[in-house]
Amino acid sequence: MTSSFPHRPTMVVVTGAAGFIGSHLVQGLLDNGLEVVGIDRRTPETDAIARLNLRDVTGHPRFSLFSGDLSFVSLNLLVRDAACVFHLSAIPAVRASWAEFERYVTANVMATQRLLDACVQEGVSKVVYASASSVYGPAEAPSGENDPAQPISPYGITKLAGEQLCLAYAKRPASRLSVTALRYFTVYGPRQRPDMAISRILAAALAGEPFVIFGDGTQRRDFTYVGDVVAATIAAADIEVPATVINVGGGSSISVSDIIAMARTVTGNPVPLTAGAAQAGDVPATAADLSLARVLLGFQPRIDLQTGMTRHAQWLQKLPADLLRTYGPPPTTDQDQSAPDSPH
Ligand code: NAD
Repeated sequence: MTSSFPHRPTMVVVTGAAGFIGSHLVQGLLDNGLEVVGIDRRTPETDAIARLNLRDVTGHPRFSLFSGDLSFVSLNLLVRDAACVFHLSAIPAVRASWAEFERYVTANVMATQRLLDACVQEGVSKVVYASASSVYGPAEAPSGENDPAQPISPYGITKLAGEQLCLAYAKRPASRLSVTALRYFTVYGPRQRPDMAISRILAAALAGEPFVIFGDGTQRRDFTYVGDVVAATIAAADIEVPATVINVGGGSSISVSDIIAMARTVTGNPVPLTAGAAQAGDVPATAADLSLARVLLGFQPRIDLQTGMTRHAQWLQKLPADLLRTYGPPPTTDQDQSAPDSPH
């Protein structure tokens, strides 16, 4: 998507703009000449990370950030005139969703419904929704979009509900809203959330602190570099299929043991390990069938694991010491640091 008006850039909205993937998407959209309105909520716990994530785009003449919670603020004025709404805000992570289901339902389902209502009322024609591989549940072979969705975590259930809600709005009679739901497979790269495995493994290697492996290290994930995810997400704004779901993955399934070995290669340091029990909601493996993404989005993952983890480690190395500690604190039971990341 590029700006079609030389004097008035096309405006798009990104929810979850201060988050890991959202902040990269904002940068990608600005690079394409668009005007970007970001929406995110501020909390004392996440403020330092949000500021860090948005450091490169703060002050950009085509970027503005609205601080507010999608569950409460009036959204109509914000989405009015948007050529596309990229809906990335959600509470992510599998493990905490067992204990905090109501919070997940509010942020991931109810807020999505409020946003969709505002989009319909304001005549927005396109929504791109950030769905997740965790909607699939356990799978033997690469998951295709027509395979059954059988999430095994409360988080996965809320992501599936949000996705299906989007599709239901798009399929309503006389609907003018087109929705593309992208099922992201475990995303990594600079600014990856500090609760996620690659961040924690790299931070452990850099700080010489132990990484707790939940399970035996044979769990496999389809890891996707964040720049590839941004490319797919921007491409999704332009496809004309009215209601569709598309996988976005890195193209290979890699075990946590491989990630630990790669962390050693890219940092030059060993990763101290501590054993932990396998966690509820973690599936043994994820892998994406990317056939549809290739056809509809022209998608091809470009960044291999070594290149992506090298960039990720370089970014961590530049963090001030107090923030590096945020990325590698001692494990607690409610953080998503399985081996590798929970399915997402
Ligand atoms: P993140 O936590 O870094 O970003 C999410 C942002 O949404 C945060 O900045 C948060 O403050 C904001 N937010 C949450 N609820 C909100 C609300 N009610 N109102 C306003 N803002 C709110 O997460 P991320 O890893 O960047 O994930 C982005 C999206 O991608 C999520 O929808 C997630 O479910 C999905 N996803 C992520 C991954 C992954 O590997 N990171 C994989 C699959 C899917």
